[in-house]
Amino acid sequence: MTQFTELGLAEPVLKAIAAEGYTKPTPIQEQAIPTLLEGRDLVGIAQTGTGKTAAFVLPLLSRLAANPGRPVSKTARILILAPTRELAAQIAESVRVYGSQMKLTTTIVVGGVKPGGQVRALARGVDVLVATPGRLLDHMETGAVKLSGTEAVVLDEADQMMDMGFLPAIRKVMKAIPTRRQTLLFSATMPKEIRSLANDFLNDPAEVTVATVSKPAEKIDQAVYMVKGDAKPRLLAELLSADDMDRAIVFTRTKHGADKVVRYLANEGLYAEAIHGNKSQNQRIRALDNFKKGKAPILVATDIAARGIDVDGVSHVVNMDMPNLPESYVHRIGRTARAGKSGIALSFVGNDERGYLRDIEKLIGRKIDRIELAEDMALDLSLPEEPGPHTKQSRGGGGGRGRGQGGGHRQGGQSQNRNRSGGGGGKGGYKGGGKPGGSRDGGDRSAARSESGGGGSRQGGGQKRRSKSTKSWSPVS
Ligand code: AMP
Repeated sequence: MTQFTELGLAEPVLKAIAAEGYTKPTPIQEQAIPTLLEGRDLVGIAQTGTGKTAAFVLPLLSRLAANPGRPVSKTARILILAPTRELAAQIAESVRVYGSQMKLTTTIVVGGVKPGGQVRALARGVDVLVATPGRLLDHMETGAVKLSGTEAVVLDEADQMMDMGFLPAIRKVMKAIPTRRQTLLFSATMPKEIRSLANDFLNDPAEVTVATVSKPAEKIDQAVYMVKGDAKPRLLAELLSADDMDRAIVFTRTKHGADKVVRYLANEGLYAEAIHGNKSQNQRIRALDNFKKGKAPILVATDIAARGIDVDGVSHVVNMDMPNLPESYVHRIGRTARAGKSGIALSFVGNDERGYLRDIEKLIGRKIDRIELAEDMALDLSLPEEPGPHTKQSRGGGGGRGRGQGGGHRQGGQSQNRNRSGGGGGKGGYKGGGKPGGSRDGGDRSAARSESGGGGSRQGGGQKRRSKSTKSWSPVS
C-alpha cells in the first residue's frame, strides 16, 4: 500500500496531513496525486466521500510550495470552482487545513453575501480562490479580479454545476484563463455536456475513476419505509428519537417542506435546523456550524443546500421525500458513511413515490430492503388533525401522541409489536431500545409522554439527547 510520503508531495503538505491523522492515501489520491504533480490535466470521476478534495488540493499546494511568491494584486494563482456556497466553504476549509504549514492566502467568493469584503480580499491578490461561477463572473466583469495570472483551475462537481445552469458562466471563466495552465475536472457522472466541456478546455487529460455514482458507498445500510397516508412526520420523529441517531440529515424535496419539518420536530421536542436556498448565507453558515458542533443534532436540508456538506459522524440520512432524480439519492445518502465509516440511510416512500424508488433501484442496481409498517402503525402514526401538543391524546396509557411506546415497525421481517397501552417502556426508534422516563423540557407534555410509556429520549432545552461526542475521521483504509 502506497504511503503519502511516496507520492512526491511537498514537505509542508506532508506535515499538515500527518497532523490531520491521515496515514494512507485513498484510491483517488493514490491515482491522481502523482499525475497532478507531473503537471498533467486530469478528469476525475468520483463522488464525494472518496477523498477527492485532498486529491486535488494536496498537489496544487505542493505546486505553490515549490514556487512561492506573493500573488499579484487582483489575481488568483489557483482557482477552484464549485457549485454551492457550502461546498466552496468546505473546500476553502480543506485548503486551510492542508496548507496550515505554509504561508498561504485563501479567499472564498460566493453569492448571497455583500461583495465588498470579497473585493478587498481580491485586491490583495490570493494564492487560492474558491468560488461559485456566478459571483466570480460578477467580480471579473467589475474588474475586481483578473484571471490572467491563474496557473491552475479546478472544476469540482462539474455535473452539479451543469445542473444548476452554470455551464455558460464556466465557459466564460475558462476563456479568461491563459491556456498555459493545469486544468482539473471532477464530476460524479460524465454526461455528454461535461465530456464536451472537458474536450474543449482540458489538454490531453489523464482520467481517474473511482466508485461511480451508481455505487453508493458500500458501508451504508439502506432501507425504505413504505408509508401510507400522512404518517411520515410522525415516523420521522419516532426514528429521530432513537438512541443510535447521533447526528442526522433529513432531506425534503422543497424549502417549504424543510421548514415545516423543523417546526414539526420542534413541536415534538426535537431540535433541528434547516438549510436551504431561501436562507441567507449567514443562516446557512450558522445552521451548518451548529450541526457540526452537535448543537443541532438534526439538519433538515434540500438537495441543493446539501451538496458539499461534509460533517463528521453523520449516523443517519433520512429521506423524508424521495428525490425525483435517482442520482440525488446517491448524493444524499453519501452524507453518511464518509471516509470509510458506516452509516444508515432510511427513506420514506409514499404511495405516489414508488416510481422514484424503482428508478433509484435501477440506478444502484439492487433492491433496497423494505420495512413494512405494522397495520396499526399507519393509524398510530397519523398526524393529529389539529396542530398543537394537546390534541388527540387518547392513545396509549395516559395521553401523549402515542410516542414512547414499543416499536411499531417491522424490520427485516421481525415484527415488533407496538405496545398500545404504553407499558412496555420502549420508545419505538429505528433500533428500538427503551429508555425510562426522559425529562424533556419540563412542560406537561413531557409528563404526558412519560405516562404513555416513558420513552423520552430528550434533554432539557428541547435538544435531542446525544449519546456520543463529536468524532473525527479515522484514516481511510
Ligand atoms: P471528500 O471526498 O473530499 O469530500 O472527502 C471526504 C472526507 O475524507 C473528508 O472529511 C476528508 O477529511 C477525509 N479524508 C480525505 N482523505 C483522507 C485520507 N487519506 N485519510 C483519512 N481521511 C481522509
